Amino acid sequence: MNLNSRLAAGFVAIALILAGPLSFAVWSLFHLKGDSVELRDRDFGGSIALGKLRDGLRDVRHQELALLFSKDTTSRNAMDVQIKRVAALADSLKTFDLKDFARDIGASIREVASAAPAEYKAALAGDTTRADSISSRVFVPALTRADSTVLNAERSLQLRAAELVDSQTSKITQTTTASIIALVLALLIAGSISFWLTRSISGPIDDLESGMSSVAGGYLEYDLKIPNDRTDEFGRLAVSFREMTRQLMELDKLKAEFVSVASHELKTPINVIVGYLQLLDEGVYGPLTPKQTEIHKTVANQAQTLSRLVKQLLDVSRFEAGGGRLEPRQIRLDRLLKELESAFHVLALQREIVFKVDEAPGLPTEVYWDLDRINEVLGNLLSNAFKFTPRGGEVDLTISPDGSNVRVSVRDTGAGIPPEQVPRIFEKFFMADNQSAARAAGSGLGLAIAKGIVEAHRGSISCESMLGAGTTFSITLPPRVPRHSQRVVGVVG
Ligand code: ADP
Repeated sequence: MNLNSRLAAGFVAIALILAGPLSFAVWSLFHLKGDSVELRDRDFGGSIALGKLRDGLRDVRHQELALLFSKDTTSRNAMDVQIKRVAALADSLKTFDLKDFARDIGASIREVASAAPAEYKAALAGDTTRADSISSRVFVPALTRADSTVLNAERSLQLRAAELVDSQTSKITQTTTASIIALVLALLIAGSISFWLTRSISGPIDDLESGMSSVAGGYLEYDLKIPNDRTDEFGRLAVSFREMTRQLMELDKLKAEFVSVASHELKTPINVIVGYLQLLDEGVYGPLTPKQTEIHKTVANQAQTLSRLVKQLLDVSRFEAGGGRLEPRQIRLDRLLKELESAFHVLALQREIVFKVDEAPGLPTEVYWDLDRINEVLGNLLSNAFKFTPRGGEVDLTISPDGSNVRVSVRDTGAGIPPEQVPRIFEKFFMADNQSAARAAGSGLGLAIAKGIVEAHRGSISCESMLGAGTTFSITLPPRVPRHSQRVVGVVG
C-alpha cells in the first residue's frame, strides 16, 4: 500500500470509528425526542383538557343554580351552551388515550344533558319542587360523578407522565453511559490507528534521515533498515539511497585508485632526480662550485619534500582504495610505548631534546586497534614535536585512562602554533605560519591523515598550543574498535 492510500485508509477508518458513537447518540436523541413529543401531545394536552373540563363542570353547576334562582330563558340558554361545551370537551378526551375515564365522564355528562331539558321545563314553569328534585336526584350526582372521574383521570395522567419521565431519565442515563463507552473505545481505536500510521511513516523517515546524515558525514556504509522489496515510496527511496551510496563508494574507490596510480607513477622520476642529486653531492660528476652547491641543496630539499608527499599520498590512497578498512588486533600498550620510545630515542639524543614516555596507572593491559595506523598517527605527532622543538627542549609522550577510553598525548616545548590557526591544523595541506621553526619542509597532510585514522577508530584528536611555548596533541581512543570499523574518510581528494 503506498503512502497516500495508507494515509487515506487511516483517516477513513478514524472517521468511521468516530462516526459510530456519534450515530448512536443521534439515534438515541431521536428516540428521546419521540418520547418528549408523546409527553407533550398526549399527557400535557390531556391534563389541560381535564383542567378545562373541571372548570366547565363547575360552570354548569353555577349556571344551574342561576337558572333555579332566576327561572328565565337567558339562564337556561347559558346553561345549555355550557352543557354542550363540556360534552365536546369530554369527547376530546378520547384523543389523549384516557379510554375508561373518557367513557365514564362522557356517560355522566350525557346523563346531565338528558336530565337538563326536564329541569329547564320545570324551572321555567316555576315548578321549583320538581326542578329541585331533578337537580338533586339526577343532575348534581351526575355532575359530581363526572367531577370525581376527572380528578381520578388527572391523577392517573400525572402518574403516567411521571412514569414516562422516569423511563426517559433512565434512557438518557443509559444513552450517556453507552455513548461515553463507545467514545472512549472509538478514541482508543482511533489513537491506535494514528499511532500505527505515525510509526509506519516516522520509522522509515528516521532511518533515511540517519542514513543521509551518515553519508553527509562521509560514512557511506550505513545499513538502512527499510527492506528493498518494500513497494511504497519508502521502498523506492531505499533503493535510490542504496544505489547512491554504492555509486559514491565506487567513485571514492576510483578516486583513491587514481591518486594511487598517479603517485606511484611520480615515484620513479622523483627517485631518479634524488639519485642524480646524490651522485652530484658525492662529486661523481666533478666538484661543484659554491653557487652550484647552494642550488643543489635547495633542489635536494625540494626533491625530499616531493618524495615524502608522494609517499604519504601513496600510503593513504592504497589504504582508501582497499576500502579504507582498519585491521584491528590485540596490542599490548607497554610494548607499543617501548617501541615508540626506542624509535625516537636516537633522534632525541641527536637533537639534544629531553624525551620522556610516561604511562599512568589504571590503563588496560591490552587494546584492540589497527597497530600500523596508530603507529602512523603517533609517529607523525612525535615527528612534528621533534621537528618544531629546538635544542634543549622537551618532548613527552603520555598515556593515561580517560573514563573508559585511552588518552595519548604528545607534548612539546617547541615553536607553538598561532592561536587563530589552531582550528585549521587538521585541514589537508594546511601548514601554519611557523615553518621557520621547522627542521624540515612538510606537506601539511600528516595531521589530516592522523585525524582520519583516529576517527576511523571512533576516537577524537585535539590540539592545544601556545605560540613560543609549545604544543600538545591528544588523541582519545576506545580500547576496542569493532573489527570492520568505519573507513578513514576524506583524507585524499
Ligand atoms: P607537516 O608536518 O608535513 O607540515 P602536518 O599535517 O603534520 O604536516 O602538520 C601541519 C602543520 O601543523 C605543520 O606544518 C605545522 O605548521 C603545524 N604543526 C604540527 N605539529 C606541530 C607542533 N608539534 N608544533 C608546532 N606546529 C605544529
